[in-house]
Amino acid sequence: MTRHALSPDWQLECSACGKTDPPDGLPTVCGCGLPWLVRYPERSWHQELKTGLLARRGMWRFREFLPITADETPVTLGEGDTPLLRLGQSARRLGFSDLWMKDEASNPTGSFKARGLSAAVTRARLAGVTSFTLPTAGNAGVAASAYCARAGARVRVFAPRTTPATILTQIVTYGAELVLLEGHIGDCGRAAKAWAAESNSFDLSTLREPYRIEGKKTLGLELALQHDWRLPDAIIYPTGGGTGLIGMWKAFEELAHAGWVEEGKFPKMFSVQSAGCAPVVEAFEHGATDCAPWPDPATRASGLRVPHPLGGRLILEALGESGGAAVAVGDERLEEFERSLAREEGIDLSPEGAATVAAAVDLEARGLLDRHQRIVLFNTGAGWLYRDAVSLPGS
Ligand SMILES: *Cc1c(COP(=O)(O)O)cnc(C)c1O
Repeated sequence: MTRHALSPDWQLECSACGKTDPPDGLPTVCGCGLPWLVRYPERSWHQELKTGLLARRGMWRFREFLPITADETPVTLGEGDTPLLRLGQSARRLGFSDLWMKDEASNPTGSFKARGLSAAVTRARLAGVTSFTLPTAGNAGVAASAYCARAGARVRVFAPRTTPATILTQIVTYGAELVLLEGHIGDCGRAAKAWAAESNSFDLSTLREPYRIEGKKTLGLELALQHDWRLPDAIIYPTGGGTGLIGMWKAFEELAHAGWVEEGKFPKMFSVQSAGCAPVVEAFEHGATDCAPWPDPATRASGLRVPHPLGGRLILEALGESGGAAVAVGDERLEEFERSLAREEGIDLSPEGAATVAAAVDLEARGLLDRHQRIVLFNTGAGWLYRDAVSLPGS
């Protein structure tokens, strides 16, 4: 009995030099060293598909937009389908009339990293990988651990010693090998690369393989679906490696190509970073086309502690093309919004999520955002992941 697997019907296109390649084996980056983007020249996304989507669940409901063939099964834990919540009390207090929060905390493993890792582990597993590694600022490590467990594969995670203890505990809980290092995610990246070579493990680093971004892209597809295929006026995204931002921008282009959303009506994309690690803001303000490494990155928002994003060029392109901007907020302001959104909305913000609220206030004050337009913020992870102990009254 022979079973003929359908061969992949997508292509890889270099985001820098434009070279194209078939997606054979285990793609990493283009020969020029920069990230691949997945293109689907053979897919047609007809209007009937839209109605069909409603009967499906999770991010793989968008499988026609994802790197998977009809006869393949994804490695999934039910990621996606996160709530898009209209903010009430806090929006009124801050003076916004159409402010929304896409709350990614309800993903498996508590952050939106689940989307990217589900896609990346799916493809690598189908290519026969049984041993993985990745550097992480925190949440990617938790997601990788869970998805590798689900795939029956081994994973070694390299994380900074300063990562919140609850996040580290979660990584160990899913059975990953955890290595703690002094330094930041860049240092962990070097260690993971060396380990990958030594142990023949596959490196899942951001943009060092083409599929995490495809998973993150579902943020944009889902957002469009949840607002009945009308995109918001502005998006504020807490930017570390930038995969979510690059992925959403790619999603909007694909939706316009499909004719599901209006071309030229894309949201303005805003990146928010921490004042303690703001390479994208620095590059944006200087009109640079790529990011320079940020020395001594320091922020409690560990997902934003990415001193030299490999996708810097792509992030800056999306900000520029959309008419958006990049803004930095100080760590001392994050706690205020974590508290107020918890108490006024019942939403448990991560420090990264709180940064998007602070950015909305600042961008409006600077005249870059209209308080009456539809604005979508992202709570990329759950606040509880960052809390190591509770302080109860009277204790
Ligand atoms: C990873 C992470 C980010 C940054 O995401 P990118 O898409 O890499 O920019 C933001 N917030 C949280 C909670 C994260 O875990």
